[in-house]
Amino acid sequence: MLRLDQIKLNPDQSEEALWERSAKLLRLPRREIRSLRVLRRAVDARESPVLVYTVAVEVAEEQRVLRRCADRRVSVLDEPGYALPEPVDAPEIRPVVVGAGPAGLFAALVLSRCGARPILLERGQPTEQRIRDVNAFWESGLLNTESNVQFGEGGAGAFSDGKLNTGTRDVRHRWILEQMVSCGAPESILTDAKPHVGTDKLHITLQNLRARLLEMGCDIRFGSRLTGLHTENGAVTAIDVTTEAGQYTLPARQVILALGHSSRDTFEMLYDAGVPMEPKPFAVGVRIEHRQADMDAAQYKTYAGHPALGAASYKLACHLPNGRSAFSFCVCPGGQVVAAASETAQVVTNGMSEYARDGENINGALLINVTSEDFGSDHPLAGIAFQRRLERRAYELGGGGYLAPCQRVEDFLAGRPSTGPGKVLPSYRPGVTYTDLRDCLPPFVAESIARALPLLGQRLRGYDQPDALLTAVESRSSSPVRIPRDESGQSGIAGLYPCGEGAGYAGGILSAAADGIRAAEHILYVIGREKS
Ligand SMILES: Cc1cc2nc3c(=O)[nH]c(=O)nc-3n(C[C@H](O)[C@H](O)[C@H](O)COP(=O)(O)OP(=O)(O)OC[C@H]3O[C@@H](n4cnc5c(N)ncnc54)[C@H](O)[C@@H]3O)c2cc1C
Repeated sequence: MLRLDQIKLNPDQSEEALWERSAKLLRLPRREIRSLRVLRRAVDARESPVLVYTVAVEVAEEQRVLRRCADRRVSVLDEPGYALPEPVDAPEIRPVVVGAGPAGLFAALVLSRCGARPILLERGQPTEQRIRDVNAFWESGLLNTESNVQFGEGGAGAFSDGKLNTGTRDVRHRWILEQMVSCGAPESILTDAKPHVGTDKLHITLQNLRARLLEMGCDIRFGSRLTGLHTENGAVTAIDVTTEAGQYTLPARQVILALGHSSRDTFEMLYDAGVPMEPKPFAVGVRIEHRQADMDAAQYKTYAGHPALGAASYKLACHLPNGRSAFSFCVCPGGQVVAAASETAQVVTNGMSEYARDGENINGALLINVTSEDFGSDHPLAGIAFQRRLERRAYELGGGGYLAPCQRVEDFLAGRPSTGPGKVLPSYRPGVTYTDLRDCLPPFVAESIARALPLLGQRLRGYDQPDALLTAVESRSSSPVRIPRDESGQSGIAGLYPCGEGAGYAGGILSAAADGIRAAEHILYVIGREKS
């Protein structure tokens, strides 16, 4: 197979044109191309938007064709695949995975596929019940602190845009995407340069993944929270699990901690139990919301709204004179701002979209970096205390009932409270309170956002438009804690395998899933070695 890069089509051309283009590049008649497969599809909107493809092409006498065309865009296709670890016999004491987010689910999948029959504990509820709990919260402000946007099957990303791009390269990524497709995720995630699943399709995928895990003998326990750790000679021997019915102790020798960034009570429990932890820099800020049509027009110009391009997204960053960085994060085209709290009387914002990304607005986080100097302590849990203070202030400023404080950009920049929306209507439920966000944001965050808005507006026309809405507070973009681990994947307590976003080793769905697999690989190695 040959790999052909940088084949460009305009949005009006169908993918059929790829055959013609490939033949031309290879200097062959079209009939000599036996098969063609799209490997990657990207939108380049720097000038007039074009679709940029990478394709795999099958031809006869590959080497001769390659030599003759002598073009940098043509090479021999090299597709390294992920090979699962060797199968093992299920150990008497089953490995335990704590957390059914991407890290925990994919750790459990690899352990199950390799015969280790793990137990998967999740404090939240299965997808079906979780959807009901989250909708009740968004509709009436009744927060279930165990089943919400952060906790439950699928983890923090289950109500999200389901973006699956990552800044890192890992042979496991393709395998993860393939597993998701086989569970019902759209096939486009295998080829799109910026793949996304959307909340609707993610929920289907999660339910099918659960069925697959159960078939392979994985014991999945929802409503089951890790609340205690038993150790002997520096190694884990058992864990306490709390359910609605009470607490029990589960013997355990290998425990994957795939907790996510919001399980604050669990971090506190682990800290008290002597698990080494350190503070980690993170970022806080606001959600900014625009009309999708305006962002499409700014980027796609005359092609705005073209079905081949979909809803436009953006990625922005700038360094500020005060030494801070401001950057966009987790942009959700055609999506909504969501209430993402997991603790009582705190307001937390985030964003999600459906697969179609066809909502009226686009939203994204606008974040400012935070270090331990900003919260005046290097205690490992000081970042959590900082987040909590911020989320409580946002709740109070919103006036209670999980209403979020909200302000028009023009008012924010002018330093006056907003009294209502302009042409951008807020999508956050249960609702917003128009106010002055400076009353809840730390001064350095407010000042940095005010400086960043016009700068980012120079990079993306309309980003700082007067009617864009800022909704506070975006405080859970990454973990404020890291749980150190050694080359064998274990923390200071043997048998504990911290992984994923919460332990500080991933940022996003795909990298968390890959890190969960890494933890599973370590455990399979140990189990395999013990048997031999
Ligand atoms: C609204 C929203 C939108 C997002 N959008 C995107 C996106 O589009 N793309 C992207 O890449 N990332 C997105 N993210 C971030 C992404 O969801 C996380 O990076 C990812 O989920 C981290 O995976 P994880 O498995 O490490 O942790 P999590 O997904 O947080 O999973 C941890 C799980 O552990 C469970 N748990 C915690 N403590 C315990 C305990 N003591 N006992 C039992 N269970 C426990 C939790 O209930 C949770 O289900 C979004 C996040 C949110 C909140």
